[in-house]
Amino acid sequence: MKIEIRKDLNELPSPCFVCEEELLKRNLELLKRVQDEAEVKILLALKGFALWSTFDLCKEYLQGCCASGLHEAILAKEEFGKEVHTYSPAFKEEEIDEIIYISNHLVFNSFNQLNQFVNKAKGKTSIGLRVNPEYSSVEVDLYNPCGLYSRLGITRANFQEDKLSEVEGLHFHALCEQNVDALKGALSNFEEKFGEFLHQMKWVNFGGGHHITRADYDVEGLIQLLKDFKNRYPHLKVYLEPGEAVGWQTGYLMATVLDIVENGMPIAILDTSAEAHMPDTLAMPYRADIRNSDLPNVKKHTYRLGGNTCLAGDIMGDYSFDEPLKIGDKIIFEDMIHYTMVKTTTFNGIKLPSIVIKNDQDCYQIVNKFGYNAYKSRLS
Ligand SMILES: *Cc1c(COP(=O)(O)O)cnc(C)c1O
Repeated sequence: MKIEIRKDLNELPSPCFVCEEELLKRNLELLKRVQDEAEVKILLALKGFALWSTFDLCKEYLQGCCASGLHEAILAKEEFGKEVHTYSPAFKEEEIDEIIYISNHLVFNSFNQLNQFVNKAKGKTSIGLRVNPEYSSVEVDLYNPCGLYSRLGITRANFQEDKLSEVEGLHFHALCEQNVDALKGALSNFEEKFGEFLHQMKWVNFGGGHHITRADYDVEGLIQLLKDFKNRYPHLKVYLEPGEAVGWQTGYLMATVLDIVENGMPIAILDTSAEAHMPDTLAMPYRADIRNSDLPNVKKHTYRLGGNTCLAGDIMGDYSFDEPLKIGDKIIFEDMIHYTMVKTTTFNGIKLPSIVIKNDQDCYQIVNKFGYNAYKSRLS
């Protein structure tokens, strides 16, 4: 697509995601500082942030990408380059050759999978295993990789110590939006259960869920924790693979008020959708921040905001504003860059938000727009 440039927010197509390069750069610089000071490598987890138009920037700071399967691995190779680390709960025979060809590290979720693919993979990629440190600190089950009966990672009870001859690394991913105290807990379980195997490994990967770029994250604590680990295991390369921390607070989703209706309270209908464009607000669920708004009845004018699909529950929530909303007003949902674009759907045929990058010169570059084809091409 030809990139279009706009100088003014009001000239952008609606709805649209706007990622601000300056904010992204700030996150990347912090992540790079962790890498440099702790001497670890940080990968971008594409699951949470796959805005590939920014990868030329991201790759100046990060070591590569972590992919969850073939398609993310191809995107990593095509658009990011550098290292590609691929983990999937289960790889498929028909895809494994290409995944091996692309991936520097390949992480299996079970000994079955290791046995199935080890002969194809050995010598071509560095083989790892995902283990489950059984440190369960994520409160929402949907996001807890160490919950009861979790399928993600091998528990110590199921770990086959005699099958490690081709295994060069261990991987765990146990956190979600957490601080250093949670990593400390997970790491201590990990070492207690799997520490005895680390002398024969070349690398470890502490997964994602580290909310490093959040204002209250203890960055110095993380650096110290990593340094201490490296002192205990100087032969190991250490990787982290955050997704959310890369895209955290780097932009917004802008939408337009299409209509205002009444039913016990005023309800604004927007040209976006919680279900189709911000699914985590319903799945998690959480209340998105809206610029210049407050909780209901705090400011003078309260509205329920709803999406433009026919799903009754496609509601963003109740918000209050200083001025009454008017048809045509812009609504800005804050922090809508991570785990949004990667999850949008064309449910109800609703148009996908355009994707815009605001660069250093205060120019808005429209890097992608979607029309009817995005809807039709995924059906038949
Ligand atoms: C989701 C995931 C990540 C990234 O997690 P964030 O919460 O976005 O930092 C990294 N590694 C694995 C294996 C994951 O499943």
